[in-house]
Amino acid sequence: MAIALGAIADDFTGATDLANTLVSEGVRVMQVIGVPDEDTDIGDGDAVVVALKSRTNPADEAVSQSLAALEWLLVQGAGQIVFKYCSTFDSTMRGNIGPVADALKARLDAGLSVICPAFPANGRAVHHGVLYVHGLPLAKSSMKDHPLTPMRESSLIRLMEAQSAGRVGLVPLQTVRNGREAIRARLAEIARDGRGYAVADAATDEDLRLIGSALADHKLVTGGSGIAMGLPANLRTAGLLGAASPPVLPKARGRALILAGSCSTATRAQIARAKTPWPCRKIDVDRIAEGEREAMDTADWARAQPADRPVLIYGSADPDEVAAMQNRYGSGRAGAMVEAALGSIARDLCRHGFSRIVVAGGETSGAVVTALGIKALRIGPEIAPGVPWTEAQGGMPLALALKSGNFGSETFFEDALAMLT
Ligand code: ADP
Repeated sequence: MAIALGAIADDFTGATDLANTLVSEGVRVMQVIGVPDEDTDIGDGDAVVVALKSRTNPADEAVSQSLAALEWLLVQGAGQIVFKYCSTFDSTMRGNIGPVADALKARLDAGLSVICPAFPANGRAVHHGVLYVHGLPLAKSSMKDHPLTPMRESSLIRLMEAQSAGRVGLVPLQTVRNGREAIRARLAEIARDGRGYAVADAATDEDLRLIGSALADHKLVTGGSGIAMGLPANLRTAGLLGAASPPVLPKARGRALILAGSCSTATRAQIARAKTPWPCRKIDVDRIAEGEREAMDTADWARAQPADRPVLIYGSADPDEVAAMQNRYGSGRAGAMVEAALGSIARDLCRHGFSRIVVAGGETSGAVVTALGIKALRIGPEIAPGVPWTEAQGGMPLALALKSGNFGSETFFEDALAMLT
């Protein structure tokens, strides 16, 4: 069955964010991890979001991964492609957003493409082509100090002209608010002027929906997750998408497991709350470093716990302890040891009846999904803003909730599991 919409996201949690937005619009969505191949099972998805890890790679690698994902999406029948990047336009003056957009546009022969990272629910708005984060221009927001992509320029027009081959025009907010036809007329004017991209101003969800409504015939749309809000309605009007369908919960009802690698405040509060009622064990980083069987011992311990209780396993620690571990073993290695341990524990326990798994931490989620060999996830209902239940495709029933560290309230773990009982 052909898919109606294909998306390429430059990181894992960004892909989930976009998938979640499409699910809220009643679309059946699959998320695929990494460049898919012929074995990747996308079930009955109407839209597929490919999650790459291409935000900070060398630009040529990001381009080749994105083009490989695009070829696969085209084979699946996708008639419209969304290139999803962060709502803070995370990139450097050399890329990777510009080079990837240029390459996708050239392959699709797409003509003019819109640029719109606005995400009003998270305080990201575009005004006069300038990106604002909670009212501050991007280059004055905390993004100016980002360790990998420090943002020192706030004008999306200047950012995109520096990174890409195309010149960039603007659809001002007033034009956006004048509606679909006014937006289309302005886009046509920018294209006639020989420009390859158009930044669209947006400050509300309604603005994003109006912009989306004007993009029905765009082969490539680029932006944050918000730009996707208005696209499913076009596809329905064109008869390419069925009626809105509610998201389906995963079927798995086996033993429950929480794996936490995030050291964020929210995750530590969630662990503190779950520790009392549930069997719980902390990963001992020193034992891993000494070559002990820490992961296997922890998995043995988990299997021995009462089968009707969720089991909590975590590496998470407060900032002092994390700093001590990083001093002792190096910052990369300390984190990698915990990620590898949680990955192999997940693999072992999945073979032994655990099939409802909540993972806390972005990198940790990536490590667990990779260790489990999962290639695709069907996106289910939302547990907390930005975090859906998902079901792994192509094996035994397996429910996964993959939470970015700082997401969710203190009761997140119990709320998640309560949805599946
Ligand atoms: P978040 O989403 O909060 O950023 P991540 O999983 O992306 O969470 O990152 C947390 C990192 O911290 C992971 O690499 C994890 O392995 C590492 N980590 C977890 N526990 C410890 C610990 N006790 N000492 C050092 N690093 C740790």
